[in-house]
Amino acid sequence: MKTISYDKFKNTVKELTIAAIYDLDEEVVESLKLASKKEEDLSKIILDEIIENAKIARERRIPICQDTGIVVVFLEIGNLVFCNFSIEKAINEAVKEAYVEEYFRMSVVGSPITRKNTFTNTPCIIHTKIVEGDSLKITVCPKGAGSENLSALKMLTPSVGKEGIIDFVIDTVINAGGKVCPPMIVGVGIGGNFEECALISKKALLRPISDQSNDEEALELEKTIFEKINNLNIGPMGVGGKTTCLAVKVNLAPCHIASLPVAVNFQCHASRHKEAIL
Ligand code: SF4
Repeated sequence: MKTISYDKFKNTVKELTIAAIYDLDEEVVESLKLASKKEEDLSKIILDEIIENAKIARERRIPICQDTGIVVVFLEIGNLVFCNFSIEKAINEAVKEAYVEEYFRMSVVGSPITRKNTFTNTPCIIHTKIVEGDSLKITVCPKGAGSENLSALKMLTPSVGKEGIIDFVIDTVINAGGKVCPPMIVGVGIGGNFEECALISKKALLRPISDQSNDEEALELEKTIFEKINNLNIGPMGVGGKTTCLAVKVNLAPCHIASLPVAVNFQCHASRHKEAIL
């Protein structure tokens, strides 16, 4: 049994939140640099500015983007981990401290109807999974609205097959166009049920750009959809070009014989997520 203290947990969430907002992952930066080599004119200028922006953000501790997002937290809690406090309260306190102390934009309203800002950037959205072991994995993902608002889920009929899945993903990308601040990362969830499908599409965005699915069907879809998206000529920030997406990640889940849920969750170039294992 491992005991994790409130301070250790809360401070880790706070540090991850701040790091995610200032430090774009090196892997994303490298992917943007590779893309820049393939582009010319305005699309190249935009990619180079995105790369420069990430450098300035890291060096001067300025948010990568003004939309510092609503914070999504994924927890994998070992069954041998003991926390003598409310994990939910600790996460919200950590995020509140991070946003207040660093002057990040407060982007959360307490009710979708009355729409009053909570001025703490909380509550966060928390997904918890109990796993075997004595460690606790925390992934913090501040998610902007632009890429989230154009995301979509559809309950397809199984008869549409792979072609129907690809068509839905491509139509969703075309509809999103430049509004999701491309180059984007596209998380695709296929299977599960309504809510599971959305969740696996979001989890797909946490996979490293270099990560390839170990499922043959998913891998083939990742390659096919990646190529089709980059042939759409949407390009960086929608100005046209070869680079509309940096990666496509497909996650599969078992589902009902009569269902084929497909979810597309977009991640803009400000791909912010950090993780730690306690
Ligand atoms: S989509 Fe991303 S880069 Fe564009 S405004 Fe939103 S958070 Fe910022």
